[in-house]
Amino acid sequence: MTSAQHILKHTFGYDRFRPPQDDIINAVVNGQDALVLMPTGGGKSLCYQIPALVRPGCGVVISPLIALMQDQVSALRQLGVKAAFLNSTLEPGQVAQIEQDLLQGQLDLLYIAPERLTQARSIELLQRAPISLFAIDEAHCVSQWGHDFRADYLQLSLLHQQFPSIPRIALTATADERTRKEIIHRLDLDSADQFIAGFDRPNIRYRISLKQNAKQQLLGFLKEEHPTDAGIVYCLSRKKTEDIAFWLQEQGFNALPYHAGLDARIRADYQSRFLREDSVIMVATVAFGMGIDKPDVRFVAHLDMPKTVEAYYQETGRAGRDGSPSNAWMVYGLQDVIKLRQMVESSDGSEEHKRAERHRLNAMLGLCEITSCRRQSLLKYFGDILEQPCGNCDSCLEPVDTWDGTEAVRKALSAVYRTEQRFGVNHLIDVLRGGEGEKIYQFDHHRLATYGLGKDLDANQWRSVFRQLVARGYLRVDMDRFGALRLEEQCRPLLRGEETIQLRRDVPKKAGKQTTKTSLPADINVALWEALRERRRELAEDQGVPPYVIFHDRTLQEMCVALPQNLAQFGRLTGVGERKLDKYGADFIQVIENHLAEQPASTA
Ligand code: ADP
Ligand code: ZN
Repeated sequence: MTSAQHILKHTFGYDRFRPPQDDIINAVVNGQDALVLMPTGGGKSLCYQIPALVRPGCGVVISPLIALMQDQVSALRQLGVKAAFLNSTLEPGQVAQIEQDLLQGQLDLLYIAPERLTQARSIELLQRAPISLFAIDEAHCVSQWGHDFRADYLQLSLLHQQFPSIPRIALTATADERTRKEIIHRLDLDSADQFIAGFDRPNIRYRISLKQNAKQQLLGFLKEEHPTDAGIVYCLSRKKTEDIAFWLQEQGFNALPYHAGLDARIRADYQSRFLREDSVIMVATVAFGMGIDKPDVRFVAHLDMPKTVEAYYQETGRAGRDGSPSNAWMVYGLQDVIKLRQMVESSDGSEEHKRAERHRLNAMLGLCEITSCRRQSLLKYFGDILEQPCGNCDSCLEPVDTWDGTEAVRKALSAVYRTEQRFGVNHLIDVLRGGEGEKIYQFDHHRLATYGLGKDLDANQWRSVFRQLVARGYLRVDMDRFGALRLEEQCRPLLRGEETIQLRRDVPKKAGKQTTKTSLPADINVALWEALRERRRELAEDQGVPPYVIFHDRTLQEMCVALPQNLAQFGRLTGVGERKLDKYGADFIQVIENHLAEQPASTA
């Protein structure tokens, strides 16, 4: 038997475990059941892959996402691991071969879909084969309350009954207590060891800024920070995904639209291009993402605000699974606040349901408006405490000013009150600024006491005030009168002058002034980086696998810095195990040598 540490280094090319990987692996190697909660990108796969290699027999991995099995198996084969999958895409001859390999103990890992595993025929096959463990991936699919519920998962309790002596490890990135309890209950995991890692994603940089000209802001962000990276741009509507994708194409980006209204074949094609090509930007509705296991998504951009913090965290969490620096970038503004408030109010459903929705939206709006560390606030929402500000979000990197908005807010609220709570933001601003709009005279609003009282702020500053008042629940959007703002009970102390209020000072970002680049570390030579990526792309194409299966970005970046010129040096890079060293070492060393030869002597 080879030790876990040895396999980590020699097969996977990693120096050390990320806690609590080592404890989990120990438990499973020793035959113990385990429940693992770890964030996306935390390194869940190793927790069952290594025990499967250490223990005799084949590890059976139950995974709901057939589309992913192929890539997972390709990645393992690149490492020299004997892996296979059984699903509906295989020919009968291929199935027979895999079954035979399994029975003869020729497989280390077998991926299988839940609906297939639970068939009597499969159970009977597994009973005749040497099995080292069962890994139940995406275990939250067993939860009937969750969005990813899969009825087949309920059947998985049969594993415990049919194979009582084989350890089971259930894994998920879904945090909440109720889901965890349900997994334990439904999968008979009462005696499993529980491993709960923190939910922080330290390599993701969170930024939320004021929406001004969203398209230009997005363009600036992409040009400055991700000119050739893969990423996802989320939009609310199908039409918008198409508009933005075509517009980005015109700007020279490799962008594709994705939404549930596209033909299934086109969707599958775009998805596979996203996975296989190096720098595709997917402009998508939330229909895109579930089960996308691409580790080198360098950014997730939101042009529209998600409705809940859960959704925001899940969507942004698709960035940077490989652990390299990545961006979660969002622009949002008054219209987003109004639109989402309206969506909640006009949704059908009980008053109780609406109250819950309102509560969740408030938390999301709070995250947008917060002036302290975003990560602390995000993690707190999920019950994790981060003691210190993170240093890797916009609030930490470019602290936000606040100002005493008490006077302005009183004027704003009084304008709402005196116009009888019947008007939207634009007209209210017109009243405050003493404007000459048609409605002013139509409704005699030039005679109001508040008319022209707010000339000290410009229209954008007033929009900022109103946005914050709606976001923080002082004003409500009236559903019966489209967009009209109404006072909420909590305004009273402000109007009576019994309370003061601090507001966020929105500073328009100047184009070109970006202090927070994450695209490539400064010590990396772009020409070499591109040459290494090109070589990786060719190698991937030859074998019909995604480029990250050859090497992750991080390994290429380490090459740029370490400039290995022999195999011994090359073997020390993160992610280079014995198999990949043999297979690719010489190729990439050649690229590095060519690059060095072209450099002037002084910089080489
Ligand atoms: P998850 O399934 O939890 O989302 P993965 O298992 O895909 O995460 O791992 C995320 C990334 O981290 C992968 O690129 C993986 O190779 C890498 N990784 C996992 N464990 C380690 C480790 N101990 N050292 C270095 N990299 C690791
Ligand atoms: Zn922070």
